[in-house]
Amino acid sequence: MTAPHDKTPPAPAANFIKNLVEADLAAGKHAQRHWAGHPGTAADHAAGPLDPARIRTRFPPEPNGYLHFGHAKSILLNFGLAEQFGGRCHLRFDDTNPEKEEQEYVDSIVDAVKWLGCSWEQGGETNLYYASNYFDWMAQFAEYLISAGHAYVDSQSADAMRANRGTLTEPGKDSPYRQRSVAENSALFARMRAGEFPDGAHILRAKIDMASPNINLRDPAIYRIRHATHHNTGDQWCVYPMYTFAHPIEDALENITHSICTLEFEDQRPFYDWLLERLAEGGLLQRPLPQQIEFSRLNLTYVVLSKRKLIQLVEEKHVEGWDDPRLPTLVGARRRGYAPAGFRLFAERIGVSKNDSNIDYVLFEDAMREVMNESDQRRVAVLDPLKLIIDNYPAGQVEECLAPNHPLHPELGQRPMPFSRELWIEGEDFQEVPEKGFRRLFPGNKARLKYGYVVECTGCDKDETGKVVAVRCTYLPDTKSGTPGADSVKVKGNLHWVSAAHAYPAQIRLYDRLFSVPAPGARREGDGPEVERNFLDDLNPASKTVITAQLEPALQNAGAEERFQFERHGYFVADRVDSRPGAPVFNRTVTLKDAWK
Ligand code: ATP
Ligand code: MG
Repeated sequence: MTAPHDKTPPAPAANFIKNLVEADLAAGKHAQRHWAGHPGTAADHAAGPLDPARIRTRFPPEPNGYLHFGHAKSILLNFGLAEQFGGRCHLRFDDTNPEKEEQEYVDSIVDAVKWLGCSWEQGGETNLYYASNYFDWMAQFAEYLISAGHAYVDSQSADAMRANRGTLTEPGKDSPYRQRSVAENSALFARMRAGEFPDGAHILRAKIDMASPNINLRDPAIYRIRHATHHNTGDQWCVYPMYTFAHPIEDALENITHSICTLEFEDQRPFYDWLLERLAEGGLLQRPLPQQIEFSRLNLTYVVLSKRKLIQLVEEKHVEGWDDPRLPTLVGARRRGYAPAGFRLFAERIGVSKNDSNIDYVLFEDAMREVMNESDQRRVAVLDPLKLIIDNYPAGQVEECLAPNHPLHPELGQRPMPFSRELWIEGEDFQEVPEKGFRRLFPGNKARLKYGYVVECTGCDKDETGKVVAVRCTYLPDTKSGTPGADSVKVKGNLHWVSAAHAYPAQIRLYDRLFSVPAPGARREGDGPEVERNFLDDLNPASKTVITAQLEPALQNAGAEERFQFERHGYFVADRVDSRPGAPVFNRTVTLKDAWK
């Protein structure tokens, strides 16, 4: 399959979820809910005041990996809606699965959400929750379902259960255990909880309809036996709720009004509603119940967002760790220098919809450029240094040239740049024999050293191999920028430079896209039926280049994570891991213009 390119227009895109929330608010749908001040059952909430939050949303990551750009879309959507409508957004760790979760992931998720500028501390509330703290309620609710005849313990083998589930075209078959009495089911579930059975011996299932056209309603499993230690509850439990059972309950306990998830959960919505209805009928959950709303997940060209593929990239060392600046993880984005505000602009522009789409990476980069152009101060860096010697400038003399910190913000002032007889310029700014249209330095041509003087190129020095090692010129003393004589000589070329004696030689990592094709691993036009592609074959071999550049002296004091526009080159950030005080190392975040078109 090749990826369709969806170049979304750069205006805020429609957001059907926002419209839905607005309609609910206008109808007063949630206005009568109470809030206990913490998650709870119907009784707990009834004892509290009216909920001060007009809506409640949540971001519910499973702490089993690092967050990626797709999660950012969900985070910004959920926290954004809460902010916009006087609501609250909860950060909830969906940690009901005992085997896969780790504190390291919890910490990194907390950091990433904060870094994006989102807060679960709103209106005097701190809404940070762990689903595993609801295990008592979940077990109690399971017991209620048993007592009401809505759940039963099944003792079929896993194979038999699978065989009896039916297919998309054939109905399933009732389990021989489906007619167990309430008393028998209660006793068995109690023994499951007590640890009397090994993993897989029995399972608790909702009793719905084995002939339902929706396979998810064919008596889905709700509790399983798993003798495992949980990172939060330790060995307290040997039965754990299934995700599809736990998630709606978590939402309801937390008074979530709009439970937003990605499209693959659409088929689960009938069970979500069925379950919450049964529990509300039993008086266990407050009404109105949360509503599940699905939107299409973010897919981006030139990256992979599947957890499995990201793990493979890290474990097989195709990248240098989860925070490798080339990875579309949020820890990687932070190291790369991408701006949280750029994520927000991007999310606004792509909007939310139910259509699967593949967003062009350029749209992401353009949002970043737009934000950083506004926010980042300018500095000068020479990435491919070539010596320029000004023969008529006195050796040992140093003067200051003033460079504006931000052309769009004169209030940010100017900084002095030392100017002297020997400078570094870009190698590409000199051509001994100029090609057509070349306007910078070649013998006999005049050009301006930006913020400094007009110089006239007189020639160059070469080594024995014929390689140019220095360019020679003379300067015109009356032409300094900012002086009355500046415009007396008209030139067409303008180049940047740093004083060789004052420059800071820094390591710079030039990052580029990790993959060289829009849809890594996908079949391309013209591929025969026999062609199988591996996404690793599409890795861009030039995704990282390390160089030593000459930077203007002010950059030597850049603090970790400080980002600048290096004139003509793009946006660069002082790496937060490898920089040392007085010795920053820089990462290229993005070039000034897209070079991939
Ligand atoms: P998995 O379930 O395979 O472990 P996941 O990416 O769904 O991976 P979760 O921790 O369950 O990870 O995701 C948390 C939230 O982020 C969910 O609500 C999910 O819908 C949302 N989310 C995940 N990937 C994307 C994506 N590509 N675009 C938008 N939202 C996403
Ligand atoms: Mg998930």
